[in-house]
Amino acid sequence: MKRIVALLFLLSGNLYGNGIAETRVVNVYSHRNYDSDRALYAQFTKLTGIQVNLVEADADKLIERMKAEGIHGPADILITTDVARLERAREAGLLKNIRSTVLENAIPSHLRHPQGAWFGLTKRARVIVYHKTLTTPESLQSYESLALPAFQGKVLMRSSANAYNQSLVASFVAHNGPDKTLVYLKSLVANFARAPQGGDTDNIKAVALGVGTVTWSNTYYLGKLLGSTNPEEVKLAQTVGLIFPDQEGTGTHVNISGAGVSASSSHEKEALAFLEFLVSDEAQRSFALANFEYPVKSGVEMAPVLKAWGTFKEDGLNLAALGTHNAQALRLMNEAGWK
Ligand code: FE
Repeated sequence: MKRIVALLFLLSGNLYGNGIAETRVVNVYSHRNYDSDRALYAQFTKLTGIQVNLVEADADKLIERMKAEGIHGPADILITTDVARLERAREAGLLKNIRSTVLENAIPSHLRHPQGAWFGLTKRARVIVYHKTLTTPESLQSYESLALPAFQGKVLMRSSANAYNQSLVASFVAHNGPDKTLVYLKSLVANFARAPQGGDTDNIKAVALGVGTVTWSNTYYLGKLLGSTNPEEVKLAQTVGLIFPDQEGTGTHVNISGAGVSASSSHEKEALAFLEFLVSDEAQRSFALANFEYPVKSGVEMAPVLKAWGTFKEDGLNLAALGTHNAQALRLMNEAGWK
């Protein structure tokens, strides 16, 4: 009887399995925290029989935990919401290189590590958010526009300690070199309306209230405000506009929610099946919609608000460069006086 069941299982042509003798598991350490992600993982288990053990925490804590657990640790997958942290994990020897034609075909090459240490699963653009009546979009077509004298005392920013701004500045270093970047950063900091504070959402709201007229934000923060159940937040979000910068130049900076396979993984097949599932059309749609992000795979449906913003030219720089230039970016930000 057992043999018949096993045979039937093999004949059923299970997409991911090679036949099972015992419970197959994948241990996922994730910085993401969404009910829809958990529903998606349940769907993966239903399809493959592979059980997902989920640990959710801040990425820095997960990285520290993986370091402490060492080479015999249980983690199979690390998911973060910023490439800088994936690069940090890779540099610490916590990720292993993976080859997969499924992943390579689904994910554009600039959104995955060249040797397969990590893979982008969703993406977000870092855009200019401006006050629609206090400024004009024509004057704000580039990241560099914020450093122009016209925006003196008008620029709102979060701290240089934030990974999103570090990654954006790292892209400037990669494109323009450190000297030009420092000159630019000094002019930018001179335009700050106040000491850096808050998160992207706080700064969007402050722009709407006229504390300044312009800031940078990840797209999903504006998406969330526009989709808020709080009418006050929707009103604030409608007071501001969004610009995809540098459409004539290198393109708008993007970052990822992404994942890598742990160097300590003893369930590599299961981990790979898990990642490959996350780039299926169904998973891409759900994964991206959960946080108003863009799917990495083309042709997948996205949130209506993102569709309304239209298509844009994105920076084709491999995101690994953001890790390479991260430390220098932060040094330059500090040198320019960006607290
Ligand atoms: Fe965020």
